[in-house]
Amino acid sequence: MIESSASSKARKVCIVVPCYNEEGVIGHTVDVLIRELERMNSLGLVSAGSYICCVDDGSRDGTWREILGLAERTGRVQGIKLSANFGHPNALVAGLFSNHHNADVLITIDADLQDDVSVLARMMEYHGQGKLVVYGVRVERKVDPLPKRIAAAMFYTMMSAMNGRTVRGHADFRSADARVVSDLERFGEVNLYLRGIFPLIGYPSAQVNYERLERHAGESKYSYVKLMSLAWQGITSFTTTPLRIVFYTGLVMFLIAGMISLWVIWAAFNGDPIQGWSSLALLLTTFSAINMISLGIMGEYIGKIYKEVKHRPRYIIETTTPDG
Ligand code: UDP
Ligand code: MG
Repeated sequence: MIESSASSKARKVCIVVPCYNEEGVIGHTVDVLIRELERMNSLGLVSAGSYICCVDDGSRDGTWREILGLAERTGRVQGIKLSANFGHPNALVAGLFSNHHNADVLITIDADLQDDVSVLARMMEYHGQGKLVVYGVRVERKVDPLPKRIAAAMFYTMMSAMNGRTVRGHADFRSADARVVSDLERFGEVNLYLRGIFPLIGYPSAQVNYERLERHAGESKYSYVKLMSLAWQGITSFTTTPLRIVFYTGLVMFLIAGMISLWVIWAAFNGDPIQGWSSLALLLTTFSAINMISLGIMGEYIGKIYKEVKHRPRYIIETTTPDG
């Protein structure tokens, strides 16, 4: 497989690494990535000018100092420093949009090396075979705690039920042709859900499977609360199915309410009306709860519209490394 793709022109690759408080791990990660780039270069899979772009997402530790040092020491690292913490997807986009005029293929990978670097070569082989996007797919989540695994399984099942184009087990480890990234630039939405947008852009794509590894150092920046919010973000920025579910639930409730009304009228004439108190109380609470949930879901979408309408920038670049 490698021989066949080695014959095609080696592509210039930019590896985008989002970093939020990663001073303890970024140096090692960059070393590993450079070694891999060199190995792939010797196989003819990537060009010698391939490089790494570290995006400092408003870290509060010495991440930026580390990145500046790496840029100087290796000569293959560029750095972008965002003016504040804009969040993982925005950091990725900042890296992608700053480099797609300068590289043929853009790869995004986390700073903690939880994604298996050894599959990068297979990604590049697929690009050699004409694929424009290659998704890294986690086949094993052994290192994640059980609740996180269950939550992930539930989320992917729900997402694919509502939106058929979800790539199960795919996070943000992927490679994309520069052309796909310029198409991505035309998606102006502020609520960026990259995992969903790439399948939406289309083009021939492939998947590479890998096992998710332990974080090399430092701590996960995603607490359960943040993960839940990411899942909710994914659902509400990508499908309006919850709104439809609200509507159908309303219809069913309306039918039930109709039947109950008939029963209440019948009871008013034929029985002791006081007896109905418990069922009434029950109905009242159930309906109020459903109303509240429905309003909440509507509110979520309205909130999203509000954010989109303001059209704020997704990220602000404070500075870059000297030649970046
Ligand atoms: N990250 C970021 N901004 C944030 C949070 C995280 O750029 O606000 C980066 C982080 O440095 C890492 C990647 O996103 O490179 C994934 O984060 P993490 O490893 O904490 O997530 P997990 O792997 O635990 O889901
Ligand atoms: Mg991680």
